[in-house]
Amino acid sequence: MKAAVLAVGNEVLYGDTQNSNGAYLASELTAATVQIVFQTVLADEIAQVAAAITHALRVADLVVLIGGLGPTVDDITRQAVAEATSCPLALDQAAMAQIEQYFLERKRPMPESNRRQALLPAGGEALGNDRGTAPGLWLELGSQVVVALPGPPIELEPMFQASVLPRLRQRLKSGRAVTWLRTSGIGESSLQELLGDLLTSANPSVLPYAKLGEVHLRILADAASQQEAEQMAAGRLRAVRERIGPYVYGQGNATLEGVLLETLLGRHETLAVSESATGGLVSARLSDPAGASQVFLGGSVVYTALAKVEFGALERSAIDRNGAVSAWTAKALAESVRQKLGATWGLATCGWAGPQADGEVGLAYTAVAGTAGVESQEHRLGHNRYDVRHRLTQAALWHLYQVLGREG
Ligand code: ATP
Repeated sequence: MKAAVLAVGNEVLYGDTQNSNGAYLASELTAATVQIVFQTVLADEIAQVAAAITHALRVADLVVLIGGLGPTVDDITRQAVAEATSCPLALDQAAMAQIEQYFLERKRPMPESNRRQALLPAGGEALGNDRGTAPGLWLELGSQVVVALPGPPIELEPMFQASVLPRLRQRLKSGRAVTWLRTSGIGESSLQELLGDLLTSANPSVLPYAKLGEVHLRILADAASQQEAEQMAAGRLRAVRERIGPYVYGQGNATLEGVLLETLLGRHETLAVSESATGGLVSARLSDPAGASQVFLGGSVVYTALAKVEFGALERSAIDRNGAVSAWTAKALAESVRQKLGATWGLATCGWAGPQADGEVGLAYTAVAGTAGVESQEHRLGHNRYDVRHRLTQAALWHLYQVLGREG
């Protein structure tokens, strides 16, 4: 099945809103074996959108429209579909009931303008929307389908999962399974060497995506049924894990910080952080997952020597003797923040991010302090300031991950 995805809306066209729905739908449709033939962004103009739908119906079996289903006059998607498909708009009773119910539940009077949202192209089916007033649209035209979904991702995503994907699966009669593996602590080329022949097989395929400090692997299997595809993907996943297991920290949408927090939570342990070169980036990542406060106690950004003395309890003369960027400094910061907050673990960073520096740009240290002592790692992280700071953030989290693995 081939699909075109058309995002409607001036705010997306002018760059005020990122087309995240387009990316979401493309990845979900690809995962469901649908081939995306093109995506486009269109202005809120009936003629333009209608022309795009007409073109899309020439090259695709499925046309998915995003946005423009609201109650105001600039919400023109329904009219554009009606024009392009010659299915005139008519009041859809199911859609009307759905909108009335939405207002009833919230004990709010329904503005007259919302009636417009119940006007659907004849033959179309309204798709339920629990999060907003705009019903979606599923319109079959022989073997082709036009789908319209509301713009807010919080409405679009559940509607796609609940109402569109199951209908598509019925039509597709084939299966595709996609799994992601997330790795850290190894570069893409070393990973490729370890994976060898697994990377050249076409089905299931294993595709590496290099990120800053991480490599993600997409494992994709196509088969006659979903069950068979999932079995193939699971088999390939096991084979990949056998070769690169120590570098894999998670599957699917897992994040390194999320995995660390879960691990610490499971062990009833806590963490404190003292950051120099990363300036808070490590703490930002560790405080991102909900519930982080049960594990991540906090810490300090000790960017200058003064801050290292005042907040890190380091002695100025010792910093000068050992170097602001040194294994000693990283270890002293990790141990001091651990003690200060009474945490199980202390984590620290220091490094030269550049471009001007008193030492070798890219040289950095991480340290992890625990009940059994403190250890440091030395890193060389390139010459670009942004890369150094973000790679060092990753290196610190990965350092902790390794220590927890050893001492688990
Ligand atoms: P509603 O009636 O709920 O407003 P709608 O279908 O009319 O829905 P739009 O008015 O086009 O949707 O957009 C509503 C909001 O949805 C936008 O303000 C924007 O925040 C978000 N949105 C729209 N299109 C996209 C897109 N392609 N990607 C991400 N977000 C989008």
